[in-house]
Amino acid sequence: GSVMEKVLQRRSLQMRNMQRAWQESPEGNKMLDFRKSLPSFKEKERLLQAIARNQVIVISGETGCGKTTQLPQYILESEIESGRGAFCNIICTQPRRISAMAVSERVSAERGEPLGETVGYKVRLEGMKGKNTHLLFCTSGILLRRLLSDHNLNGVTHVFVDEIHERGMNEDFLLIVLKDLLPRRRDLRLILMSATLNAELFSNYFGGAPTIHIPGFTYPVQAHFLEDVLEMTGYKLTSLNQVDDYGQEKLWKTQRQLLPRKRKNQITALVEDALHKSNFENYSSRARDSLASWTADCIGFNLIEAVLCHICRKECPGAVLVFMTGWEDISCLRDQLKSHPLLGDPNRVLLLTCHGSMPTSEQKFIFEKAPPNIRKIVLATNMAEASITINDIVFVVDCGKAKETTYDALNNTPCLLPSWISQASARQRRGRAGRVQPGQCYHLYPRCVYEAFAEYQLPELLRTPLNSLCLQIKSLQVGSIGEFLSAALQPPEPLAVQNAVDFLKRIGALDEKENLTNLGKFLSMLPVDPKLGKMLVMGAIFRCFDPVLTIVSGLSVRDPFLLPQEKKNLAEIAKSRFSAKDYSDHMALVRAYEGWKDAEREGSGYEYCWRNFLSAQTLQAIHSLRKQFTFILRDAGLLDEDGGNNKLSHNQSLVRAVICSGLFPGITSVVHRETSMSFKTMDDGQVFLYANSVNARYQTIPYPWLVFGEKIKVNAVFIRDSTGISDSILILFGGALSSGVQAGHLKMLQGYIDFFMDPSLAECFLKFKEELDKLIQK
Ligand code: ADP
Ligand code: MG
Repeated sequence: GSVMEKVLQRRSLQMRNMQRAWQESPEGNKMLDFRKSLPSFKEKERLLQAIARNQVIVISGETGCGKTTQLPQYILESEIESGRGAFCNIICTQPRRISAMAVSERVSAERGEPLGETVGYKVRLEGMKGKNTHLLFCTSGILLRRLLSDHNLNGVTHVFVDEIHERGMNEDFLLIVLKDLLPRRRDLRLILMSATLNAELFSNYFGGAPTIHIPGFTYPVQAHFLEDVLEMTGYKLTSLNQVDDYGQEKLWKTQRQLLPRKRKNQITALVEDALHKSNFENYSSRARDSLASWTADCIGFNLIEAVLCHICRKECPGAVLVFMTGWEDISCLRDQLKSHPLLGDPNRVLLLTCHGSMPTSEQKFIFEKAPPNIRKIVLATNMAEASITINDIVFVVDCGKAKETTYDALNNTPCLLPSWISQASARQRRGRAGRVQPGQCYHLYPRCVYEAFAEYQLPELLRTPLNSLCLQIKSLQVGSIGEFLSAALQPPEPLAVQNAVDFLKRIGALDEKENLTNLGKFLSMLPVDPKLGKMLVMGAIFRCFDPVLTIVSGLSVRDPFLLPQEKKNLAEIAKSRFSAKDYSDHMALVRAYEGWKDAEREGSGYEYCWRNFLSAQTLQAIHSLRKQFTFILRDAGLLDEDGGNNKLSHNQSLVRAVICSGLFPGITSVVHRETSMSFKTMDDGQVFLYANSVNARYQTIPYPWLVFGEKIKVNAVFIRDSTGISDSILILFGGALSSGVQAGHLKMLQGYIDFFMDPSLAECFLKFKEELDKLIQK
């Protein structure tokens, strides 16, 4: 103990000397001046005192006032200054990986140190931290994972949970766990940080914890709603009908219905009509749909383009931030703008993108000032709403939507829908324009639509399936899931919890008494949805690990097949070349990945991606996730050293079977193919194939069933990627395997199998089923 103590003391003195030297240097001094100009600086002493006296405090303040970069740093600095630097361990969580990386880099720069020294970060698949790291920025998911194995957070002195106003699932979950931990760790300090003003909610949750508000200063921002925007830009809504290819077929129909009235050119009246007709107050899904489809045509790319042109031609200098719903839209719009005579001219416009999956190397550019006479335009997801501050923004273009997962507990289906943001978000987006001078915000929806927005967004915990969360709760060993979740700020519906528990039982992660099985323990360690984790385990047990590994990594990163707007058809053809008549998007992914690996080896990876409309960056991410999964599985003893897990990788029907076992019950019957693109599901619903699915290109599919990974509701229900499977697969690996068939059932099945099924498949099934059961039982 005392030797360690001495080492740390010596290290603390070193830290103090280094800190002082930096602060006294000319650059350090300049940095300090900047930091002192931030609104948070005035609250520094009050904050340090409050932290000394209270175990929990809540801090709120305008975005950009210095919460994230400054507050954890104040504590670090004051600990270092008092000669205790090496004894403190500060963790600050972020909802998104990119903000954890950006912020840690910024804080290191402010301290004049390389990243990974005193300040570091850790996110899934990446990290920069060392033995001298005392302030760690990580995603909330990473801290939760740490809590699974380190229930008391030993050695941690301060935890900051940032952006709690977003009410992300991980943040809400963290708050329950930390609230439970505080009595056991009296010395631990918890600081909650929030951008908007609902601080009392969190203060009450922690028994009236003191709150500190950091008064901020922002310039006024003028809000323009769609009515004004149309007038300013002279944009004609009717022309949308000819050019915009924003949505799907369904949407076109809605547009056509609305057209005669649109001609009257009374936008407001039109929307009010829509609002009235579908009773928006109750937020019925129909109301949302009809409004969504109405506005989807208004926020077509052409309108955004018109607004950007207007800014570039008529407005004063200043960077532009465009809020869009997701990476797909961003890349499509970027491609469109690139070919525009003004907006695509690199001598006049610097076009940048900002989204959750962008690589660190690209990140830096969005913070840099554009050269004089060049207009910086950043296309961003709602990530730029609160967690990232781009300083020179003067204009904001807000499409009014964000992609959020919604979850319908009754039908137990998750959907990823671009849906309306809340009024709070809209105000937040607008505020981004007033950081350096008075700004302008162009909301691409009518004022009356804004007024119908919800005041705040529904917490994520109430709108996502809880499968993964419930599994984590179980591995925290905190007792009943329902009881645990009832301690949340806003507990989820019991039905949603029940669905999750049923699901976990069905895949064998929980036993009948809701206890974690071995499989469950293992799945909770994998940084992936339990369903995909199970598929991975199946791949290992059924000896076809490698292709399954690629599929699971692909499904949990994102689709590497690009679909540029103006080359859609070429891209689809390129993808279909990977399909080789196996009627599977998942297998196409495996081929594409393997081709890329070969090309990389020959040094032509980039060319390969270009030729095949593939994203090198996504393939790279899939590649590193593959490595991480392999590592974890090997560690858990599920992989043989001699490659035995790949002995049957060439057996296509087995790979198909494992895909089915993982994705079940996402299944649709091909028998009732209605049109070339639409299918009936087992429960008589209708689904459409995504245009770039390889299966959309075939006239007939020689499989009676399609199993799919993701269902997305955008007016109609679309399935993104699918694989054709046979009856035998469905019977053996669909229902039966995932619901844990008993020996008796198996006997019965045996007759059936012998009768007409794929004998090799049945053989594998019987041989390896036992192995799987063992994993589930113990
Ligand atoms: P908050 O968390 O309150 O929203 P931050 O701590 O993230 O605020 O940012 C405070 C200020 O620090 C910002 O207003 C901006 O001026 C500056 N800043 C933050 N990140 C960077 C960066 N990467 N580069 C330059 N300046 C930055
Ligand atoms: Mg912040």
